[in-house]
Amino acid sequence: MIQTEALIIGAGPVGLFQAFQLGLQDIRCHVVDALPQVGGQCVKLYANKPIYDIPGIALCTGQELIDQLQQQVKPFAPQFHLQELVSDLKATEDGQWHVQTDKGTQFKAATVFIAAGVGAFVKRGLNLPGFDELLGKQIFHSAPSPSSFKGQHLIVLGDNDAALEACAHWREGTDAAASVTLVHRRDQFQAAHQAIEDMRQACANKTMRFVAGQPSGLIQANDQLTGLEILNAQGDTEVLPANALLLCLGISPKLGPLSDWGLAMERKQLPVNTETYATEARGIFAIGDINTYPGKKKLILCGFHEATLAAFGASALLRPDQKTLLQYTTTSTHLHKLLGVS
Ligand code: FAD
Repeated sequence: MIQTEALIIGAGPVGLFQAFQLGLQDIRCHVVDALPQVGGQCVKLYANKPIYDIPGIALCTGQELIDQLQQQVKPFAPQFHLQELVSDLKATEDGQWHVQTDKGTQFKAATVFIAAGVGAFVKRGLNLPGFDELLGKQIFHSAPSPSSFKGQHLIVLGDNDAALEACAHWREGTDAAASVTLVHRRDQFQAAHQAIEDMRQACANKTMRFVAGQPSGLIQANDQLTGLEILNAQGDTEVLPANALLLCLGISPKLGPLSDWGLAMERKQLPVNTETYATEARGIFAIGDINTYPGKKKLILCGFHEATLAAFGASALLRPDQKTLLQYTTTSTHLHKLLGVS
């Protein structure tokens, strides 16, 4: 059990800036994110696209903003727990919060900052009966080993570079699959031009197939996957033989467990007061895209403001006997000491 004054759920731009603002209040924190890297939407959805409305930064990409936020928070050395989904949050008898992740990490936190954005990014699956049972056995998000599909009838689902790279990998070589079929709902791909050309050439050479259609069923015999049923472009049902499915369907945000934590929600968001961005649950703050209040705008700079006031709110809660003073990073020797600058 990790005891901490503050726990941040979500390492998007707002979660990262929350860690910095808590540092200025001399509050150390742990940060948990379901993704393998920090950055939330900025990195997952528009890493190389430009942002023009961060105060004082005329232009930066999503990734550059996150790099700067990581640099800024360094003096406070927040401890990151990546690739862990916060699955459970419960009040403890002594007025703190017990938080648990899907990897079994447990925290006891005096304050919790929910910076969960639009939810945890998870790999897209198939909403079909039998999917959960076959996942990890014959349905995969990535190949378990370089020879996993050797001699198998493999169906790759998706329209992106990862899907086309998988087809190229498994259709030839010593570990080649017995057959490779690419399935996507239409004959259009979001991938590099050359990769699309190569795939079309391979289809012409009959070293793989492309079938346009939507998965509509998992065909099984004796609990083993034997085929994928699809609704094809003509509107007919067709069964493609398969021993293995490789899903390259990208990621999507899922509110997931957050909605089960017993916190008041309004249209999948957490209502807060705009003085401290605290929720109605004592010690729980919500900042960034996950919160709601009159006039809320889902912008990064609004999240930064919210994180600043939430840190002041947490300081008042954690140190009720001390006055939480406003100090400037320009002139405060106390803040300079915390920042490690002389
Ligand atoms: P997010 O960035 O969504 O991060 C939340 C993090 O929490 C995620 O990493 C997620 O994995 C994690 N998480 C959620 N639930 C859990 C859980 N249970 N356990 C563990 N981890 C969890 N805003 C601007 O101000 N300017 C722009 O120019 C701009 N351009 C945009 C362009 C696009 C294409 C998009 C999609 C958005 C844009 N935005 C822009 C909006 C901006 O990206 C969001 O407002 C911002 O990312 C919100 O930050 P956040 O930290 O609140 O949430």
